[in-house]
Amino acid sequence: MRPVVCIVGRPNVGKSTLFNKIVGRRIAITEDRPGVTRDRIYAEAEWLNNYFILIDTGGIEPYSDDIILSQIKRQAEIAIDTADVILFVVDGLGGITSTDREIANILRKSGKEVLLVCNKIDTPKTPDEIYEFYELGFGEPIVVSAGQSLGLGDLLDEIIKKF
Ligand code: GDP
Ligand code: MG
Repeated sequence: MRPVVCIVGRPNVGKSTLFNKIVGRRIAITEDRPGVTRDRIYAEAEWLNNYFILIDTGGIEPYSDDIILSQIKRQAEIAIDTADVILFVVDGLGGITSTDREIANILRKSGKEVLLVCNKIDTPKTPDEIYEFYELGFGEPIVVSAGQSLGLGDLLDEIIKKF
């Protein structure tokens, strides 16, 4: 069985963009409007001859404000059930939100392997903003820009180390 890697995180942090970049094709739908993703999207991915299944757990669109948190929690629970490795994606420039904390709590309790991914760092120099994410308790954040394809090789190296 191929290892399963799930991407979780609140809407608009760049999960689907990251998914498409790793898979190398545009499968997941990315949009400026938060929460736009078809339900779970699966694809096969490969890095250095390591094959795995990647899942974008974006959620069902459209989110309404009142169901948003329960929906996100449900997605996190699905990821915990299915995943060997969880990519917990945050907006590296946006700071920690209460939703990030809720997701972190669920993931921490799961005991699964979690890699914290700070996305949207579009510059080569890592900004100080990312250090607050240590607080979430998943160790050193992995800094990437899915949009600009920065840091993805290092992220993939960390993913396959967990298999
Ligand atoms: P999702 O809701 O978490 O799946 O997020 P999407 O992948 O749909 O992206 C939400 C928005 O963030 C879109 O406008 C993307 O173009 C943008 N985005 C994604 N990754 C990056 C990035 O690395 N840098 C910047 N600046 N924007 C990004
Ligand atoms: Mg999405």
